[in-house]
Amino acid sequence: MAVNEDVRAEMDFLVALRRDLHAHPELGFEEERTSQIVAEHLTETGMKVHRGLGGTGVVGTLTVGNGPRTIGLRADMDALAMPETADRPYKSTVPGKMHACGHDGHTTLLLGAARELARTRNFSGTVHFIFQPAEEGRGGAKRMVEDGLFEMFPCDAVYGLHNMPGLDTDEMAVVTGPQLASSDSWQVRFRGVGTHGAKPHLGKDPVTAGGHFLASLQTIVGRVVDPLQPAVVSACSVQAGDPNALNVIPDFIDIAGTARAYTPRVRDQLEEEIGRLANGVAAMFGIEAEYRFIRRIPPVVNNADATGRALAAAQAVCGDKVRTDFPPSTAGDDFAFFSQDVPGAYVWLGNGPAVDGALHHNTAYDFNDGAIGTGVKFWTTLVEQELAA
Ligand SMILES: [Zn+2]
Ligand SMILES: [Zn+2]
Repeated sequence: MAVNEDVRAEMDFLVALRRDLHAHPELGFEEERTSQIVAEHLTETGMKVHRGLGGTGVVGTLTVGNGPRTIGLRADMDALAMPETADRPYKSTVPGKMHACGHDGHTTLLLGAARELARTRNFSGTVHFIFQPAEEGRGGAKRMVEDGLFEMFPCDAVYGLHNMPGLDTDEMAVVTGPQLASSDSWQVRFRGVGTHGAKPHLGKDPVTAGGHFLASLQTIVGRVVDPLQPAVVSACSVQAGDPNALNVIPDFIDIAGTARAYTPRVRDQLEEEIGRLANGVAAMFGIEAEYRFIRRIPPVVNNADATGRALAAAQAVCGDKVRTDFPPSTAGDDFAFFSQDVPGAYVWLGNGPAVDGALHHNTAYDFNDGAIGTGVKFWTTLVEQELAA
């Protein structure tokens, strides 16, 4: 009876914590309040706490026994710059910011696991609880690595978890190989010679070149990349001229977009081929092309050994409700900066059905508190199995 009451009290604590974080979202590198809360709760367990990696990053370290193995568990803390439209008692109190990706839940799960493991101490080895800032495109993981994360806290394996609507809250997906795509940006400027719209022969029209470039862009995926390798190239921004000056051919047109791949080879190919196409089109029209490819996030590719360990933990928690075939996402996660240095596995935790169709990054999205039990149990089981006493 007392045990059940303890379990219920802990769950109440975690749900309240999750909703408090939800109500107080902070953007990447601005997680002052969140990281303070994380650090306080970690300190309370008696473990060593380090702050400041990547600015607002927090690492809690728990060593039990003399096991030589060390693992890292990652949670992300940041919210998104978007309004929350759904009404809920713990709705965002900050206009224009919301936890629309469930990172409030991820932070809660890892804190719950840290509290539990510090209490039960049923393993032998070292766990680093890594709370990273700025996952949503601002480069928090990269900053932590550059600040010396793995020199200060060496890890034999690193694990990440993300909530996934559409899977039940007692369901997980653990799959080896590519999980999330690389997420890179590219920019092309076609520089011609502006002139009167009625006298194109006196200039060099960059707009027509831009049209040819756009029309050919999808041939990279369709004709160059191996058809068995997924890849996405999208032009997402086109800017040229002025809608108030319809008799002016402008000097230049700017086209920019995103590129996604699941292997380093295809990623390299996209970088090279978009540039080749831009330069080729420019040559065709006798104008100049300026090309930049900005590498932002590598693909997340699950290591076979780490995935096997994560799978064993997930199966211990969820039984046969663990999917081992689950399609990779074309989104990115900068967990890739951790798992490219250290063998890693990134797993999906069910968030229940998409309520009113709201998916990640929707203004009505919410982490499902019903998944807290599964998520905490997954983390604690992973540690107890990974670092078996
Ligand atoms: Zn997100
Ligand atoms: Zn996310």
